[in-house]
Amino acid sequence: MHLLFLGTAAGEGYPSIFCECGNCREARALGGRNLRLRSALLVNDDLLLDMGPDLVAAAHRYNLRFSTIRTALITHAHGDHFHLPAIEFRKESFTVVIRPPRLKIFGPPDVIVAIHNTFPNLDEVGVDVQSVQPFETWERGSYRFMSYRAFHDEGHSQCLFYSVDDGKHHLLYATDTGPFPDATWDALDGQSFDCIVLEETEGYGKWPQHMNFERFINHYRRFQSEGMLRPGARVIAHHLSHAWNPVHDKVVPILEPHGVIVAYDGLTIDL
Ligand SMILES: [Zn+2]
Ligand SMILES: [Zn+2]
Ligand SMILES: [Zn+2]
Repeated sequence: MHLLFLGTAAGEGYPSIFCECGNCREARALGGRNLRLRSALLVNDDLLLDMGPDLVAAAHRYNLRFSTIRTALITHAHGDHFHLPAIEFRKESFTVVIRPPRLKIFGPPDVIVAIHNTFPNLDEVGVDVQSVQPFETWERGSYRFMSYRAFHDEGHSQCLFYSVDDGKHHLLYATDTGPFPDATWDALDGQSFDCIVLEETEGYGKWPQHMNFERFINHYRRFQSEGMLRPGARVIAHHLSHAWNPVHDKVVPILEPHGVIVAYDGLTIDL
């Protein structure tokens, strides 16, 4: 399984475009890994986890085309994970030489309703959709997926995260979420992973529906104690906010001693 992180910031990007905080200023001065686009993770060349609003920038930066993508899993309706207008560009007028193969999008019900409302004729964009509830398992192509309940945007939108098994390796992609709900821990019981991508939005912050440094490390320890990490498993911090996280170069010394890889845009992982 090949992973390419297309974007690793929280919702506003890092640096945030209107922000003059010390972290944003430092990120602008340093550049490189300290600059983060919004969430999307490319798995192999045919699966996209989240469709953030920076797909065009990422495609240009990494010389990608997304016509190979057959499946997309959307975690939730927040605009940094689900950029509805991107689907428009699958129309014939924007893909003038070869129509891309159909794309099937899985996501919580409010995401699927938004797609139907915006594109009443899904054939025009070559998209199929399927609504997902927490704790469903399903297969598509060589992949086996499972959905989990996230603790995020409680009372507003329906938020999921996912595991992906390609028959050889097992990935958990957990963003956005605060501490895992008990039902999610129950569903994870007995499962093990080669890679866990866990959000770390909050750094030194306290907002309960995201991970901060302390919660991240506590979850990492629980993954270890419950036997969820296969030999050589990678645990990756993702979705970092400028408001509570120092720049990349300063987060690495905080998390790396715990065995955590801090994601950056362009990070590739081969499992
Ligand atoms: Zn987010
Ligand atoms: Zn800032
Ligand atoms: Zn969110």
